[in-house]
Amino acid sequence: ARQFFVGGNFKMNGTLSSIKSIVSALNDAKLDSNTEVVIAPPSLYLIPTRDHLRKDVEVAAQNVYDKPSGAFTGEIAVDQLKDANVNWAILGHSERRTLMGETDEFVASKTAHATDSGIKVIFCCGESLEEREANQTVDVVTRQIAAVTKQTKNWDQIVIAYEPIWAIGTGKVATSEQAQEVHAAIREWLKKNVSEEVAEKVRVIYGGSVSAKNCKELAQCADIDGFLVGGASLKPEFADIINAKI
Ligand code: 13P
Repeated sequence: ARQFFVGGNFKMNGTLSSIKSIVSALNDAKLDSNTEVVIAPPSLYLIPTRDHLRKDVEVAAQNVYDKPSGAFTGEIAVDQLKDANVNWAILGHSERRTLMGETDEFVASKTAHATDSGIKVIFCCGESLEEREANQTVDVVTRQIAAVTKQTKNWDQIVIAYEPIWAIGTGKVATSEQAQEVHAAIREWLKKNVSEEVAEKVRVIYGGSVSAKNCKELAQCADIDGFLVGGASLKPEFADIINAKI
């Protein structure tokens, strides 16, 4: 069985003081020990977060570059994350793809470099509303995943986050049928194009307006192995989402 996985993506939110409060609340919360939990504060706060956070919760960067070091102003290297005891990175979030113009190939290159160098990756994929309405959802998501398969075989270090863009920050969560359908299609694609073993083992988590209210139903779906949570990860209800299976 695949271990349930819940990530908290703080995006560009928080201050030293508010993140300290979130970390303290998580430290005091009763969390399902069967769920793997990772939180991703803005890069500036990775070190204080790692220093104060309970050890059974990991920390992720929201991005990492695809070169080991050098003249890349504004970027952070894999070895710098490891130096700070940060073992995960979120890559390919739709906000970076759309606002920063990150291509499938660039996201795949970063995913390959990170996993080759010992950083695990929450790899995000997902369609826009326009693409969904044109029935292109599975094509778009599998195109994004296919770019990764061209550059790496490190699927044991990757969690796939399916995040339909129309559900992100909108309060408009995908129905469990809509999410399950895409998760199953991703697994089917992996089975045909990577291997049966990878298709069986890789966690596919859902993101987009996940809340304490809707998480339990989504968590019941056969191919939904957890969540990537934005807004609600900044609130006490994040603990309830981590505990969605109990
Ligand atoms: P929301 O949970 O705020 O919709 O954000 C989802 C997301 O983008 C997580 O990466």
